[in-house]
Amino acid sequence: MPELPEVEVVRRGLASWVAGRTVADVQVLHPRAVRRQPAGAGDFTARLTGTTLGTAQRRGKYLWVPLAGTGTGFSLIGHLGMSGQLLVQDPSVPDETHLRVRLRFADGGRELRFVDQRTFGGLAVEEAEDGDPEGTPVSIAHIARDPLDPRFDDEAFTAALRAKRTTVKRALLDQTLISGVGNIYADEALWRTKLHYDRPTATLTRPQAALLLASARDVMTAALAVGGTSFDSLYVNVNGESGYFSRDLDAYGREHEPCRRCGTAIRRAAWMNRSSYFCPRCQRVPRARSGG
Ligand SMILES: [Zn+2]
Repeated sequence: MPELPEVEVVRRGLASWVAGRTVADVQVLHPRAVRRQPAGAGDFTARLTGTTLGTAQRRGKYLWVPLAGTGTGFSLIGHLGMSGQLLVQDPSVPDETHLRVRLRFADGGRELRFVDQRTFGGLAVEEAEDGDPEGTPVSIAHIARDPLDPRFDDEAFTAALRAKRTTVKRALLDQTLISGVGNIYADEALWRTKLHYDRPTATLTRPQAALLLASARDVMTAALAVGGTSFDSLYVNVNGESGYFSRDLDAYGREHEPCRRCGTAIRRAAWMNRSSYFCPRCQRVPRARSGG
């Protein structure tokens, strides 16, 4: 699955290359790529043709482009799946082997192509939240913003985090509370904040909650700075390995290696069918609280 930095690279690419352009023609080359369109490929094509694409938006790993021009209230949503790619190609470039959907524009310029080898991903035109200026599709409106989103509400997040009756890593992976924080980013943010993954969120102080959020944001910002492929090539491979994962991690994937802060060997623990990496010295197991 692409991580948030890769999806953000795609979003930026779309924002700079297709925003403001009018769709002249839509070709669906494989029905599976539009299977999320309830009324089928014909409906997908009809709803998209003649619209003008807005500025691409992202919520966590979800990506969409608001549509204008044929009445408002709809967005083109892209599910990248495991292998989906959105390419901006010169019309003269031969079709890719796994080309599934092609959008031609009225200006005759570069096409938008959806290429997907495994066809787990796809495109759909979906109704947007009523009156939402970003055109957030109804199906993803319940997903919380991510910490890199300019409209992320820090105060509301830390308050909600501390009010939850759960443990801190579960909370970080709860998409209704905060999105875009995967297993890797969660472990890294917890290491930076010196918090054990099983720490009850209700025991976090306000400064700890704020520091945890700041750490998650720092980790994701760093990943974004080095992650993903450049859209300059006009070819976005959302499965591009982020160089971040091999170089700059402090906890994740470092079992038996020394903690960069205290030298203690990093441990790996089984956690909800995944792994949690932590420093047993910096990130102490929470003790049961006696009294209040
Ligand atoms: Zn340590």
